Amino acid sequence: APAPLPARHLFSDPAEIEALRGNLLAWYDKCKRHLPWRTLAATEPDTDRRAYAVWVSEIMLQQTQVATVIDYYNRWMQRWPTLQALAQASLEEVNELWAGLGYYSRGKRLQEAAKKVVSELAGQMPRTAEDLQKLLPGVGRYTAGAIASISYSQATGVVDGNVIRVLCRLRCIGADSSSPAVIDQLWDMANALVDRSRPGDFNQALMELGATVCVPKAPLCGECPVKQHCRARHRKLFGKPTPVPDVEDCGKRVGGCPLCPPATEPWDSSLGVTNFPRKAAKKQPREARTATCVLERRGCHGAPEYLIVQRPSSGLLAGLWEFPSLPLAQGLQEEKQREALADHLQAWMGQPVEARGLQLIGEVVHIFSHIHQTYVVYSLPLDGDVTLDPASSPSRWVTEEEFHTSAVSTAMKKVL
Ligand code: SF4
Repeated sequence: APAPLPARHLFSDPAEIEALRGNLLAWYDKCKRHLPWRTLAATEPDTDRRAYAVWVSEIMLQQTQVATVIDYYNRWMQRWPTLQALAQASLEEVNELWAGLGYYSRGKRLQEAAKKVVSELAGQMPRTAEDLQKLLPGVGRYTAGAIASISYSQATGVVDGNVIRVLCRLRCIGADSSSPAVIDQLWDMANALVDRSRPGDFNQALMELGATVCVPKAPLCGECPVKQHCRARHRKLFGKPTPVPDVEDCGKRVGGCPLCPPATEPWDSSLGVTNFPRKAAKKQPREARTATCVLERRGCHGAPEYLIVQRPSSGLLAGLWEFPSLPLAQGLQEEKQREALADHLQAWMGQPVEARGLQLIGEVVHIFSHIHQTYVVYSLPLDGDVTLDPASSPSRWVTEEEFHTSAVSTAMKKVL
């Protein structure tokens, strides 16, 4: 059996856990930000509607800042106030509302999951974290824990980026916080700490602490409601680890401590509490280049109209609309790019397109989570109308105003 983990990195004193819960909840009651999904969760008597509201907010908040999400959340809840209403929506409508929020598969999966609850689960949300994760597409362990604790008062913890940071600092965990072994430890810790009578508030309080006080770069330790439990702060103030009675010294463990910083990157006193958490170096995003052509014609009132086409229904930016585009091989010369794009447009429009008629406008860079994408932007003004090949992707002409309300990505807005 593996050796028990050093108590230095754990919460093992019940009195300390009780005190930490009390301090954190008292602070949350006084200092929490008033956010629309919190107001709804606190006032909505129907637990399934509460769960729906929490679910929508949690999916939107993945990888996106609170300030950006608020407007999208309010518009979403106005349009589809219930799970049943969302189940009736089309993917096109969902993509239109989601446009600009990024990571578009989130909206699609949310709508698929709503359909599933209505058609396969008789409109009843699953009520435990285990069932939510098992039965709903797009609901992972974190989202399931958040919905179950906030809406159904299940005493289950949550671990997101904010919680990882707070827990790693509270217990001086300096091993790679993205490794499965450390993540498992943090889940065990979150489950042990969660307040049994107010699990939803406790989880939100821990995340709120990470978002507003125990922030990545300059944490406000002086204002922190759990500072007396924080071993990183102790180490910063006193220059040595917190003495923990009757515990094995991490440094003397055979094979080293699995939760301490690696021996090659020991505690750095200039960093203070921000020594924690530690992450393995991020993989560099992949470089990609795409030629894109803004085809323009004069509409009936003389205003310009642009041609947009729909992307395939799976993969990156699934189902969204874009200017006709073609991925380019790395290092392709400008002349060859232009020819490749002209051929692409020609096959697609069923009429000759002169490569030299394409006007190079410039480049637009957009960073997706894992792709550093450069769009090489061309323009092609058209005199007459074109008949598009009906066998190719769906396409339509839009005015500038229509373009902005269509389901187009932020990258395409930059291109225009
Ligand atoms: Fe974070 Fe500082 Fe509070 Fe520790 S004392 S939990 S480092 S804000």
